[in-house]
Amino acid sequence: MDQYLVPPGSDLNLNQWDPNDKSLFPISKKEGKLLLKDLNKEMERLQELLFAQGKHKVLIVLQAMDTGGKDGTIRHVFEGVNPQGVKVASFKVPTPVELAHDYLWRVHKRTPAKGEIVIFNRSHYEDVLVVRVHKLVPEEIWSRRYQHIRAFEKLLTDEGTTILKFYLHIDREEQKKRLQSRLDDPQKNWKFSRGDLKERALWDRYQSAYQDALRETSTDYAPWYVIPANRKWYRNLVISTIIIDKLKSLQMAFPKSEDSLEDITIE
Ligand code: AMP
Ligand code: MG
Repeated sequence: MDQYLVPPGSDLNLNQWDPNDKSLFPISKKEGKLLLKDLNKEMERLQELLFAQGKHKVLIVLQAMDTGGKDGTIRHVFEGVNPQGVKVASFKVPTPVELAHDYLWRVHKRTPAKGEIVIFNRSHYEDVLVVRVHKLVPEEIWSRRYQHIRAFEKLLTDEGTTILKFYLHIDREEQKKRLQSRLDDPQKNWKFSRGDLKERALWDRYQSAYQDALRETSTDYAPWYVIPANRKWYRNLVISTIIIDKLKSLQMAFPKSEDSLEDITIE
């Protein structure tokens, strides 16, 4: 899986990452969808264990260009897990109250508690992406945020949170197709926003902002993965596999009952 990891301190060039790559699972879409069902079962099992043990906290960050597939990833990768132990936190344009605080205030409140998996649908990274591209704050302010973010994520991991960050990598052509289908398919019309076209016109500036953000904040304790995401089924398989590997590495076990249960008889 390290093939998609952004090595800490490396000089990342997103143009060199193929959004169509499928080398890890050189199979058909049909086979891929079947395989995901097995992975979903494994995820369900591990998530139940995480919840039962109530020891580990897991934070998953999803970032992507518009139409990149954040919602679909959440739907498919976490299909079947117990909603009691998995939460999604979506970060929209900050409210006036949120803007009156520092940019990590709204984020820290939504990080996982023990036994929980929290998925960030967008995140604190918006504060070095959209905020930078639209010049919502001057460079001297956004540029020092990488340092804050590294420190914030270090704090979280020091205190027992496991962090995985995924950038869903699509290309401009694929975005065009997906926007077009939002226009053409009445069931997808609700997802279309004229604003998305304005953002699309800023594609190159977003790519530079992503490139810098990933390069500056991929650390050994909170790594970034660049996920080839033009194929949805492949994207789901890779993300699911990375999360499962990570959960397995936590070596979780069901907690022991309070005392011996052998003498108990239920009438
Ligand atoms: P969506 O995810 O499509 O519902 O859109 C949410 C919108 O909120 C996107 O256009 C984001 O760029 C925007 N957004 C999220 N966080 C911030 C932020 N910190 N500052 C400005 N805009 C943001
Ligand atoms: Mg949108």
